[in-house]
Amino acid sequence: MLSHQSEKMSLMLTAKNHSIPLSDGNRIPIIGLGTYGDPRTTPKGTARECVKLAIDVGYRQFDGALVYFNEHEVGQAIREKITDGTVRREDIFYCGKLWSTFHPPELVRPALERTLKTLQLDYVDLYIIELPMAFKPGDKFYPKDKNGKYIYHETDLCATWEALEACKDAGLTKSLGVSNFNRRQLELILNKPGLKHRPVSNQVECHPYFTQPKLLEFCRQNDIVIVGYSPLGTSRDASWVNLKCPPLLEDEVLVSIGKKYNKSPSQVALRFNVQRGVVVIPKSFNPQRITKNFQIFDFSLTDDEMKLMEGLNKNIRFVELLMWSDHPEYPFHDDY
Ligand code: NAP
Repeated sequence: MLSHQSEKMSLMLTAKNHSIPLSDGNRIPIIGLGTYGDPRTTPKGTARECVKLAIDVGYRQFDGALVYFNEHEVGQAIREKITDGTVRREDIFYCGKLWSTFHPPELVRPALERTLKTLQLDYVDLYIIELPMAFKPGDKFYPKDKNGKYIYHETDLCATWEALEACKDAGLTKSLGVSNFNRRQLELILNKPGLKHRPVSNQVECHPYFTQPKLLEFCRQNDIVIVGYSPLGTSRDASWVNLKCPPLLEDEVLVSIGKKYNKSPSQVALRFNVQRGVVVIPKSFNPQRITKNFQIFDFSLTDDEMKLMEGLNKNIRFVELLMWSDHPEYPFHDDY
């Protein structure tokens, strides 16, 4: 039932009007610009220029994080487009993320305040726990011991969540969510005694090669929106991407459906998720691709095409988060 509702709703979305409801009464644009680019190879100023262009193109959501090392540029771009009158703050939806060195409850609000200071904004629209695993708190985002092993830390996800709830109550974020949580971890929060604010979203990998049917159904039943990261199948960066999975955008089914509508495989992949009510956050720092990735509201896929694309699921992740695989909360050992 819910699935039909979200499918119907998505068919009515337009370039100008494309947000969907969240369970707390707020809304989220169904497409946003991902802003993670390798800080070692991305020239300074790129994220700023790309976010400004994206706002001109029509994007209203931006997905960022303190650990992307360009949050200051994203904030600057948003503020510049507010100052020049293109948008108002309330037109923009910014999602920030609580990094894994900040899980202890007393570190949560300072971490969010650091993001706000970096952005130079008064609030974020969505603040999410980036990963259910923690690193040792301290100055280093990726702490390692003498032998080069990552230093994990225990995490009490319910205690972290309560600290997030206090941030929403203080007006520092409009909505709260999680990322990379499996069903068990979502249930931990949903069943927490005294839960005050429910997670409105779970940001996870989602695209035609990894369609997440079980997690999507569970989230639909619990009014949690799935935000699909790596919706184009990521970059092919061997340092963090599982290259055993073939390149998504070369898939023949995507190519042939694209030909029918005069659309690219990337537009078909994004449209597929949007039609299932899954929010997409494609990253591009290329002006043509930023523009093209947004052109997904002037065509729709038939039921048969949706089924065909669902059949492409390979159940293989591009993003395996292997540096975390020994952590007790590593989410991907479970079925979903
Ligand atoms: P993605 O958006 O699926 O793919 C990005 C890659 O595709 C980039 O190399 C980009 O290069 C290229 N690209 C973009 N548009 C294209 C097009 N039309 N045709 C061909 N190639 C295209 O992957 P992602 O960056 O992994 O994920 C998107 C966002 O999700 C991230 O930026 C980040 O905000 C978020 N994310 C979150 C998590 C998490 O743990 N929560 C994990 C991963 C990602 P160009 O820039 O050169 O266009």
